[in-house]
Amino acid sequence: MTPQILTLIGALYALSLTFIIGYLIWKGKMEKRTYILILGITAISGFILLGPFVPTKLLDLLSGTQQGQIALVMVSVLGLLLLSALVWGRSFCAYACPIGAFQELAYRVPVHKARLGKSHALAVRYLVTVAIIAAAILLGRNLLQELGLVYIFHLDFGLYSLSFLAIILASMIVYRPFCRLLCPFGALSALLARHSMFQMQKNESCVDCGRCEKACPTGEIGSDGSECYLCMRCLETCRKDGMEFRKRRAP
Ligand code: SF4
Ligand code: SF4
Ligand code: SF4
Repeated sequence: MTPQILTLIGALYALSLTFIIGYLIWKGKMEKRTYILILGITAISGFILLGPFVPTKLLDLLSGTQQGQIALVMVSVLGLLLLSALVWGRSFCAYACPIGAFQELAYRVPVHKARLGKSHALAVRYLVTVAIIAAAILLGRNLLQELGLVYIFHLDFGLYSLSFLAIILASMIVYRPFCRLLCPFGALSALLARHSMFQMQKNESCVDCGRCEKACPTGEIGSDGSECYLCMRCLETCRKDGMEFRKRRAP
């Protein structure tokens, strides 16, 4: 199979999963074994489909290295994935991106965890995003590609793959460090997700016990939802059915 066909299959997988996941969580049909299985399939799909296509393809398009019909398809796919954030929030990042899936699974390794303050993380990510996008547009360079992130998905275990290993090791301690500090697609997606139609929100059954606040790795409870990765921890930790993925209402 050519890389173009694999990219198209990856796009189809990402688009369909993004919408299916949002629907399943909305309908309360997302069980733990289901989402762990999906995360595992998405992580493995990175090797079969030759890489985490969204963050790097975005930069390929901006730097002009991806052209022709495949570029048109990629623009449409990336546009649809970004627009999906207006409906389901970060459902693509939550379950359909191989880098995200690896980080999510790594954070489940039971070792000591450290919290990353939301405001600091956002400040770093927007600075990095501006730098990465400027390098792509002005210098024609894809810095994420140069970081070597995709090589390991090509089963190329050279020195470059150390950056991937570093991200996975860091993800065991800090929740999704690459997504929250370095990813330009994540930054754009978060801008739209803060206006999403659906969001994790407390409902009338909530007794303000604070368990979900402690369980949320990004401090998104009661916030705008832009950094909610639909990880299900708040839903699973609540004993009163006080948390729900539902249509956004005014705070
Ligand atoms: S923020 Fe970037 S790396 Fe993280 S899941 Fe989203 S697209 Fe993937
Ligand atoms: S865990 Fe449930 S009851 Fe407690 S604050 Fe969160 S939503 Fe409310
Ligand atoms: S715990 Fe936080 S990140 Fe996870 S689903 Fe709940 S609000 Fe979103």
